[in-house]
Amino acid sequence: MLPHIDRMAGYIPGEQPRDPGGIIKLNTNENPYPPSPRVAEAIQTGLADGRLRLYPDPSGTAFRQAVARRHGVTPDMVLAGNGSDDCLTILTRAFVGPGDPLAYPTPSYILYRTLAEIQNAQPVEVPFLPDWTLPADAFSSTGAPLAFLANPNSPSGTMRPPSEVAAIARQFSGTLVVDEAYADFADEDCIGLVSELPNVIVSRTLSKGLSLAGLRIGYLIARPEVIEGLNKVKDSYNCDALSLLGGTAAIDDAEYTRSIRSRVVTTRRRLTEAVRALGYSVPESQANFVWCEGGPPAEEMYESLKAQKILVRLMRYSGHQPGLRVTVGTDEQIDRFLEVIGTILGKRSR
Ligand SMILES: *Cc1c(COP(=O)(O)O)cnc(C)c1O
Repeated sequence: MLPHIDRMAGYIPGEQPRDPGGIIKLNTNENPYPPSPRVAEAIQTGLADGRLRLYPDPSGTAFRQAVARRHGVTPDMVLAGNGSDDCLTILTRAFVGPGDPLAYPTPSYILYRTLAEIQNAQPVEVPFLPDWTLPADAFSSTGAPLAFLANPNSPSGTMRPPSEVAAIARQFSGTLVVDEAYADFADEDCIGLVSELPNVIVSRTLSKGLSLAGLRIGYLIARPEVIEGLNKVKDSYNCDALSLLGGTAAIDDAEYTRSIRSRVVTTRRRLTEAVRALGYSVPESQANFVWCEGGPPAEEMYESLKAQKILVRLMRYSGHQPGLRVTVGTDEQIDRFLEVIGTILGKRSR
């Protein structure tokens, strides 16, 4: 084993109970609604036509065409990945050499550090300002060939508007990857910047907004010459035949995506106000979760909720108090969460 791999802690995903029955899962930002019914139809058709015997289309042409239609770009600007985590891995392998700095803000997605460590690169963490903004020169002095910016950010749910992201990219000499895993729940996105600025790449996933976390499919939008380079790095068949079929069907069902989005956004409003009323400070979320800091002790709430079969994500970042990241579930799930946390707090104050 290489010594730098030996030294790594490794990324620890949120808990996935083996028997999710009876558990309200608000810990890994899965969509509470099922995917478009067209996904199962497309997969059934694919199974029936004997597709599993053959290797899949190495570049996922039909999927890339659907993505291109969705965002008004050309298919040569799209790379399909086995989830967006695969896309982020491909980018790290393509852009960051051993010993190179890899920059990203903190607190943010913990996987960025893991990707840097696997590559034996140097993680460079740029702290968010207390109001979750970043200065335009956030990455300018890092010397990094690559920076990741989750936008909307996790765990805060906050979003930097495209004009600010553009300003950050303009002052950065490396390539800025805007990780838009949660953009389906936001009012804006940065896809327009890919054509405007030579050093911007956008990453997307179908795991959150399109309810397909179990299928594993995501994509990048970048300039054609960048996609051409990344194609040399990715595994030849990084997306399987069924993911490509299901993913294409989900992307094409824009009306369904809009309908589940609007339900999540409505529940998000209600959840935000309710947890603020419990004493937490909650930044305005543009994602499908809310970040609860500074109220009743996070560890204790996490444990008490878990004892009542409600899983939320307890997150610890150095220099910050532990906080709770709570996924926006269905209205019924959020009612139950609020009822249980209300009871816990009531008992505590007696
Ligand atoms: C969930 C998430 C991803 C990964 O999504 P997959 O497509 O399921 O791999 C990427 N970035 C952020 C910030 C996420 O929260």
